[in-house]
Amino acid sequence: MAFESLTDKLQNVFRNLRGKGRLTEEDVKLALKEVKMALLEADVSFKVVKQFISAVQERAVGEDVLNGLNPGQMVIKIVNEEMISLMGSETTEIKLQPTNEITVLMMCGLQGAGKTTTAAKIAGKLKLKGRKPLLVACDIYRPAAIDQLQINASKQEVDFFTLGSHADPVDIAKASIEEARKKGNNVVIIDTAGRLQIDDIMMQELVDIKNAVGVHQTLLVVDAMTGQEAVNVASEFNEKVGVDGIILSKMDGDSRGGAALSTKAVTGKPILYVGMGEKLSDLEQFYPDRMASRILG
Ligand code: GDP
Repeated sequence: MAFESLTDKLQNVFRNLRGKGRLTEEDVKLALKEVKMALLEADVSFKVVKQFISAVQERAVGEDVLNGLNPGQMVIKIVNEEMISLMGSETTEIKLQPTNEITVLMMCGLQGAGKTTTAAKIAGKLKLKGRKPLLVACDIYRPAAIDQLQINASKQEVDFFTLGSHADPVDIAKASIEEARKKGNNVVIIDTAGRLQIDDIMMQELVDIKNAVGVHQTLLVVDAMTGQEAVNVASEFNEKVGVDGIILSKMDGDSRGGAALSTKAVTGKPILYVGMGEKLSDLEQFYPDRMASRILG
């Protein structure tokens, strides 16, 4: 499929307009229609697109832009800047307690989003930073998830904790903190159960774990390939459980990354990492400027 990037499209629009001499407000509106279409195609939610376009429009129809030397270029620059500011202007790290305390992280997300894989990826990153993570299997509904976490823990050479698939997830979480104290782990990463869809019992279980062990950071994994659905999932988890940071998985797929714009705008919670593949090293810091370039093409 021939693919024209948004930047190319915009450049063409402005090139055609240049023949007419000065740019007018109408010209800018026309160009922003292209931006609107492209963002909708990239799966940015409609509400976010509308807000975004009006923010860009307000800046772009200013006298200094329209009368400037290269108004087309200026509008493209404004689009880029507004996109970055929508995603949070800088990278955000997972907030950790001092090394002599135990930081409790809870992973959550729908089944298949990439929670278990991401838990192990994060454990690896924290280990590289000198922390001593303990991966905890609280997804008792899918015995394969326990095995998967154990295998990944050994690949990452980090500690692993399970009470099998018959214990209660809250009890497992509590016991894991004791285990961490005994073994000297200073980060506990709790892998929880997901469902195919949002489900009140699942949400309640997460709230119960969170309250029982005083989770410091709740990390939500959403699948970037699901586009708009990722945004609905993020806002539901944020409302019902409370989310501190988001990981967008499967960004190595052909998703344009619209979910990155929407999830931040809708939940107000930062994107911490993006998953770039199935390997345990495939987790990258989230850079708003790089994501803006990816969406702009
Ligand atoms: P969970 O049900 O949320 O725990 O999901 P899993 O961690 O089991 O992941 C579901 C599938 O997605 C597995 O096949 C993973 O290898 C795959 N996966 C997870 N993260 C990524 C990613 O960033 N990129 C790709 N391509 N696959 C991923």
